[in-house]
Amino acid sequence: MITVYADDHMLHSGLLDPRGDTWGPSAECPERANNIVRAIRDQGFGTLVEPKIFEESRLTRIHTPDYLQFLKDVWGEWLESDEKGANARPETFVGPGMRHADSDCIAGKLGRYSFDSTTPFVAGSWQAIRTSANIALTGADLLQGGKRQAFALCRPPGHHATESCCGGYCYLNNTALAVQSLLDSGATRVAVLDVDYHHGNGTQTIFYERNDVLTISLHADPRLEYPFFAGFADEPGTGAGHGFNINYPLPFGTNWENYEVVLGAALDEIRRLGPDALVVALGLDTFAGDPTTHFAIETGDFLKMGERIGSLSAPTLVVLEGGYSVEHIGENTVNFLAGLAGS
Ligand SMILES: [Zn+2]
Repeated sequence: MITVYADDHMLHSGLLDPRGDTWGPSAECPERANNIVRAIRDQGFGTLVEPKIFEESRLTRIHTPDYLQFLKDVWGEWLESDEKGANARPETFVGPGMRHADSDCIAGKLGRYSFDSTTPFVAGSWQAIRTSANIALTGADLLQGGKRQAFALCRPPGHHATESCCGGYCYLNNTALAVQSLLDSGATRVAVLDVDYHHGNGTQTIFYERNDVLTISLHADPRLEYPFFAGFADEPGTGAGHGFNINYPLPFGTNWENYEVVLGAALDEIRRLGPDALVVALGLDTFAGDPTTHFAIETGDFLKMGERIGSLSAPTLVVLEGGYSVEHIGENTVNFLAGLAGS
């Protein structure tokens, strides 16, 4: 197993989340990635490589040019504005009856290009976001070069980001960028299996009208859990993409015994497609000890999850998404990868 990693993610630090009436450190913190790479090094698990640097044209295969310009400029414009705060974040969003109008001020731009307020910017955010995308694209290149498996240790994560909107700690959709890269270099069918606790709404919407990408997500029921407005079972895709999106919303308390049954159904769908490559959007926030979520997957279960997915024997790129138990995220990730590699 080859892991693609860079320290640039640490530039995206000092992020704040609301804590009732005040603010506290964001759950999406540098220690997440630091502890995963430490666990990989400590266990001597495979090799670590640096990401390559890719042209911006690779990003515009998924994201709009105006959104990319916003991501580049947001921090500088925040500093030059009258807005105050250590994190640049939106307060006003586009609702029904309003327009996605161009805005000349940073408060307007933040609202236009965000769908929630959990996705702030600091001085080093763009560099970290850009490198995270490069990590995913490097992982795709490894598969294109003949590797059977690779792990893109991406931070910040990406699966909530749409073509022109950030949200849910995500800015560029690393998983979607990797999928598109695989298709652009010769793959005809790619499957995405999103096992993050939260629905991968960004990945779903990006590929929703397409039949060259099968998107499958297992996640907490959006009637009770973020992102609330996508991830229901009756979202099959549209147009040519009808039948190429499958959602498995699951109840709070889902444990491995229950999860494994649904995962088996998802793997059957992927087998039926027979994709040229599989991209796993790996969230470790299904973990029973995750402080932010409500599933009951145990540390040992991640090994079995990796084994089950590995049984597909497809060329597989794993892209890191969420997971907020800083203490256990390293062991859980290595268990998943070991299961995948060993099956
Ligand atoms: Zn998540």
